Amino acid sequence: MRKELAKKDGKREIFYGTFERFGKKNGYKHTETTYILINVEDSEGNPVTDHLWFNYTKEIRDLWEAGKLRPGAILEFHGRVAEYVKGYEKDEFDYKLSHPTKIKIIGCDPEMMREQCDPPMDAIQEFDEIKKTGTIGTKEWADVNYNCMKGCSNGCRYCYAFKMALRFKRVSEYDQWINEETTTPADIPKNKRVMFPSSHDITSNSLEKCIESIRLLLSRNNTLLIVSKPRFVCIEKICKEFIDFSNQIEFRFTITGLDEGDKFIKDCWEPFAPNISERIATLKMAYRCGFKTSVSMEPYLVNPNEIIPKVIDYVTETIWIGIMNTTNLTKMGWDLYKKDGMEALYSKEFVKSNLPSWQKLAGEKLRLKDSVQHLLGIPQIPLKVVLPILEIKPEFRITQTPRLPIEADDVFTSKKKPAMTLDSFMKVK
Ligand code: SF4
Repeated sequence: MRKELAKKDGKREIFYGTFERFGKKNGYKHTETTYILINVEDSEGNPVTDHLWFNYTKEIRDLWEAGKLRPGAILEFHGRVAEYVKGYEKDEFDYKLSHPTKIKIIGCDPEMMREQCDPPMDAIQEFDEIKKTGTIGTKEWADVNYNCMKGCSNGCRYCYAFKMALRFKRVSEYDQWINEETTTPADIPKNKRVMFPSSHDITSNSLEKCIESIRLLLSRNNTLLIVSKPRFVCIEKICKEFIDFSNQIEFRFTITGLDEGDKFIKDCWEPFAPNISERIATLKMAYRCGFKTSVSMEPYLVNPNEIIPKVIDYVTETIWIGIMNTTNLTKMGWDLYKKDGMEALYSKEFVKSNLPSWQKLAGEKLRLKDSVQHLLGIPQIPLKVVLPILEIKPEFRITQTPRLPIEADDVFTSKKKPAMTLDSFMKVK
């Protein structure tokens, strides 16, 4: 029995829960759509139950159809605690929350946000055409995430992981967050595509621990998506160490702006992360070492059309564009957001008017993060479906960027020995 709910029997209060997926149940006349919230808490953050099923109501349908609802969305809602009969024999009692209303999305669980879920039953037909394209329902970046540290010394003001760490009381303040510590990692996955790390970065403090984790993950036949605001010396060491596993590793570097002209923006938003020029130099280095490379511009801090030309030739895979999730902002982040007038950068009009140029510059490497698709009011569907919906007719230009042969590059004479420091690399680039 849900004892915490029993104590509130009959009361109507605010609760929170994390949306996981839709389901169905046999109703009186026909099958009905339901949805499940997990980790349900009361307004003081006390867990009241690990899950609850609800009927699919108009409020939930509106959120889904606006493209805002997806696994990991944290919902706030008003609900009344009520007793109900359950069990096959209908001879048991328990407590539930009935008539949830005033539902709004107040945040997200980043671990779950990477999952997709099947649409509710009555939307299935609508999505059939999209399903045929083969990408809905697949996971966007990786099957699972893996981390070996708690906290991240980059201290980004928009950090989802910090917000979640605060919410789940893993840290109590920003200064604690930026003091990274080792943590006990989860079980090592096997035969998966693993994003590593997802809630910290690879820094000089964490490098050895990260190398140990990469070795373990590779030993279990995983393919790795190494995501970082890269420090040249750290990634250089990883490239050297794992050069023989280049077919199992893709680097995805987060490059959100440019140093020229917007250093102030970078310094405010990502105060302790490497400069953009170091990140671009690291991208070139990883590319020239023969690894798969991709770039994330989530959240872009300047118009991505200023960044794409600087990185496109060193990207073998994809370029992801995403907007800032304001629900993750700290108070300082929110003040900056307003002061810097960031709203304009993330407006629907801005995205719609710039999408053709992003497409033109990045060609088939361009990917829109869900945040952009949500902004456009379109559920998670592939770009080739987004563009016709927006009635944009971009000039499709498929950018071919053949990898530079290593021998032709005077920076690294041997694939096995990318022995170059950042300083010397910057001089010859
Ligand atoms: S690099 Fe990622 S995990 Fe680290 S502070 Fe920035 S957003 Fe958070």
